[in-house]
Amino acid sequence: MTNTLPEMAEIWQETLNWQPTAQQQLKFQQLYELILEGNRQLNLTRITEPQEFWEKHLWDSLRGIAPQQQFISSLKEGASAIDIGTGAGFPGIPVAIAAPNCTITLLDSTRKKINFIEKILTELGLSNAKTLVGRAEEIGQQPQHRQSYDLAFIRAVGSASACAEYTLPLLKKGGLAVIYRGNWTEEETTALENTVSQLGGEIEAIAQFITPLSKSIRHCLYLRKIATTPATFPRAVGVPTQKPL
Ligand code: SAH
Repeated sequence: MTNTLPEMAEIWQETLNWQPTAQQQLKFQQLYELILEGNRQLNLTRITEPQEFWEKHLWDSLRGIAPQQQFISSLKEGASAIDIGTGAGFPGIPVAIAAPNCTITLLDSTRKKINFIEKILTELGLSNAKTLVGRAEEIGQQPQHRQSYDLAFIRAVGSASACAEYTLPLLKKGGLAVIYRGNWTEEETTALENTVSQLGGEIEAIAQFITPLSKSIRHCLYLRKIATTPATFPRAVGVPTQKPL
């Protein structure tokens, strides 16, 4: 295997005030190799070049959990988190590597992707992560998952309104949803406010940033759950995307 990820110690330090340990760097490299290998059978990601993988999968995943150049404090204190529509494991697997004290559930509706993630977790020895197959609309109505998580992450799964409906029911009161976006406008913020309040949340912060290598624009939306989500949400499978709140 000739593909080696760059270390980027200075960039990690400057942007997140953090650097991976040698062991974490090794896990990033193993993750990268397993994904390249898995890509031959499964359509996991188009991002396969080492620098691009580092930026768009590793750095981007961790930037979302470090809004003030610090990892969200509950992650250090053993938060329980869920990554909804994790796909090949983003942002959930890099978060599990970077925050070993948290427990993270990796949810996806595709059994094949989850089987692949199971293999990654075993090979990387990531005992703080577990998998779940299902649709966010169904999982969010199950008592063992509803209102159970401190943090919920969601990247590249649907509209912001659908993402809010998938994440907020799963959070404990006081919990935080992190919605990863590319472009974002103030009009979209205004439109989302009403949706979020119907779900028992409020928009706490919106972070805008530029990725360190390709200088692309990104946003992360931070939604705080401040009240119980009405039992009608999330609605049935498909409704959050077809009839956005
Ligand atoms: N978060 C990853 C993958 C994005 S692709 C990344 O950023 O790279 C979107 C993934 O979400 C797919 O794997 C798809 O199976 C899953 N997905 C889409 N809708 C879902 C839903 N309602 N519930 C659970 N998973 C869903």
